[in-house]
Amino acid sequence: MKAPIVEIFSSFQGEGLLIGRRQIFIRFAGCNLNCIYCDTQISRNSNDFDFFSVDELIEKINNLITPDLHSISITGGEPTLYIDFINNLIEKIDYPVLLETNGSLPEEIAKFKKNNNNDLVSLDIKLPEFINNQKIYKCEIESIKILLNNNINVYSKVVVSPNTNLITFESIIKELFDEIKNIPISRFNLIIQPQSPMELWKNDINELDYFENLSDLSDLHDLNNVNNLDKRSNLNNNIDKGNNANKNKFFQFCEIAGKYFSVFLIPQVHKFLDIE
Ligand code: SF4
Repeated sequence: MKAPIVEIFSSFQGEGLLIGRRQIFIRFAGCNLNCIYCDTQISRNSNDFDFFSVDELIEKINNLITPDLHSISITGGEPTLYIDFINNLIEKIDYPVLLETNGSLPEEIAKFKKNNNNDLVSLDIKLPEFINNQKIYKCEIESIKILLNNNINVYSKVVVSPNTNLITFESIIKELFDEIKNIPISRFNLIIQPQSPMELWKNDINELDYFENLSDLSDLHDLNNVNNLDKRSNLNNNIDKGNNANKNKFFQFCEIAGKYFSVFLIPQVHKFLDIE
């Protein structure tokens, strides 16, 4: 049995509960969804992959092991398209595994067999604004239920934008809560992930004003010109207020989600570090 693999590499996890952990990433080719914010188009669309057997992958993994290695990330694309292959693979891996899935295929998720008590599944809840299939979150909720019932630890990221409707957001979080509240949910955590890049969270109008007004200042380096300094200080105050207007939504998302779940606010750190 072989599966299509786009890349195998060692790096730091940039999202979710294992953020900052050294991992070996195995990126499977292909995905059944088409999210607006997808940052792995290479995996979704590319024909640039090779077929690997389990033993060939194990050999690659062994060559990438470093003293700080924490776990193996099985990612994509959508790795559960190859769930039988993955079950065979993780049986032969001595490290914990993080399975990163879109959760849209509950019947495949149901076949996932954990091999280590520290195995973990990352399963996003996709808000309707980011995807054509408005009801995909119902499949994701079903998949979370299956995993928790199988005693597998899960965390879910919910990617949010400055335009995310708070009422839609709460109704989906509440639906998730209602579906899993009768299962011991100590194995479940919720993560609010602000959409990248962080520039999206700045108030563009004030930013434009800022740069337009800045060009009116004839001598920016004239520190003795008290009028210039006052003007600059006012402009900086305005842009700070503008930024906070959008960023205040971080608090609103977490306060809503906190009514139902243990919640974290975690951005994509690998984008700040500028690493894959
Ligand atoms: S599920 Fe993941 S890989 Fe697939 S389109 Fe969405 S973000 Fe991209």
